[in-house]
Amino acid sequence: MAANSTTAGLYSSFVHSGPGAFIAKQAGLPVPPPLRRYKGSEPPLPGPVLLGGSGRLVEPLRELLSGPDYTLIENATTGRSADKYGGLVFDATGITSPAELEQLFEFFGPVMRSIAACARFVVLGTTPELITNPDERVAQRALEGFTRSLGKELLQGSTVQLVYVSPDAKTGLTGLESTLRFVLSAKSAFVDAQVIRVGADDATAPASWDKPLEGKVAVVTGAARGIGATIAEVLARDGAHVICADIPAAGEALAETANKVGGTSLPLDVSAPDAGEKLAEHALSRHGGIDIIVNNAGITRDKLLANMDAARWNSVISVNLIAPQQLVNALVEKNALKSGGAVIDVSSIAGIAGNRGQTNYGASKAGVIGLVDSYAPLLAEKGITINAVAPGFIETKMTAAIPLATREAGRLMSSLQQGGQTIDVAETVAYFANPASNAITGNVVRVCGQGFLGA
Ligand code: NAD
Repeated sequence: MAANSTTAGLYSSFVHSGPGAFIAKQAGLPVPPPLRRYKGSEPPLPGPVLLGGSGRLVEPLRELLSGPDYTLIENATTGRSADKYGGLVFDATGITSPAELEQLFEFFGPVMRSIAACARFVVLGTTPELITNPDERVAQRALEGFTRSLGKELLQGSTVQLVYVSPDAKTGLTGLESTLRFVLSAKSAFVDAQVIRVGADDATAPASWDKPLEGKVAVVTGAARGIGATIAEVLARDGAHVICADIPAAGEALAETANKVGGTSLPLDVSAPDAGEKLAEHALSRHGGIDIIVNNAGITRDKLLANMDAARWNSVISVNLIAPQQLVNALVEKNALKSGGAVIDVSSIAGIAGNRGQTNYGASKAGVIGLVDSYAPLLAEKGITINAVAPGFIETKMTAAIPLATREAGRLMSSLQQGGQTIDVAETVAYFANPASNAITGNVVRVCGQGFLGA
């Protein structure tokens, strides 16, 4: 999964070579920073974390950040001998009017030159749509523009996220903790300038944050290769038994993934009319039901609309959009998806920003966001969450097929100035799959290094 010179891109390999680094520096060319990714043996942050703000979350935040995983600092030091912060967390839930937004400037401004590489910034706010007071709602909505702009200023692989917490959430951290542990770690290396909404529900912390999926059964479609294969690996790493599904023609690669993750393989064309029934039957007869389904299988059949034929249009809509809906319908109807379970769909930035030559694909991936929106309240009645990841440019066989110039541009057009790795999407899926993420539903999180396309 490590980037070699082909997967990292020609440009990145060049500017990281001896002569290339020299030329890049002279010419002021962007140099993609190496990203710090999760290794179980390393602390989640590359340095101490500074906590600020005075809202309703600051006390529970202090408690979490005082725990064994983090080194908490509450009084900022600046200047040459200052700490290099590995994390900055600001509780902005206490900001109730636009004038009070000055607190952001006062907290972050002085320490902006004392940041470690690959640091994590987090701003916590109150979900604006659920606020009745107009002044407070305006101020809380403003946090989004602050965060997205800050993301564009951060250097050396640092990222920032905005986490909106329901005003009805209890002041304890439990419903929020899985999100904090994700955004305050190397697992969110390629997630940047995202807005995550956490609901009011309480959560139970898993027995181990390293193995939160212990005892769970997960299905991953399209698991034979690419992003799906890595999702299977990460869910297995986190303790799940993984049923790896893919088209029958992918048999050998599928068996390889299943062996690697100690799971089982299930040949299944997700677009077959009886795919949902087959999956539900398999889940019930072999495992008494499943806890997690990741609808990852997807295809592209690109053509300008003027040249599009019905087969290209229909196959993409059928695999990418109709299948995820039918699989979930069948699993729910037959009670094969357990209460406390999670549905995770794979959308794309093409479904948010659109992409030339991809009217079929863009429609299917925007439809997936519609699926998340419309099914979130329906599944909530059964104690099941549904969320989506929307990958940007991720290094896989799918993106290797893009013409060279477009591919290099795709890599560079993001705040992190590079393509992501399959592990980045998989870590985000694992965050949604965590049973302690039960207060997180209806979210679409882009895994795109703050790609310049789309919101
Ligand atoms: P990939 O082509 O490498 O892998 C897709 C897998 O899905 C393959 O193993 C394929 O056999 C399987 N599949 C295709 N049709 C199927 C069907 N009918 N039934 C079962 N399995 C089927 O693609 P990838 O890059 O790993 O993409 C995975 C997902 O991520 C897709 O949904 C894709 O649209 C999405 N995505 C990828 C990127 C990227 O940059 N690679 C960006 C945005 C979204």
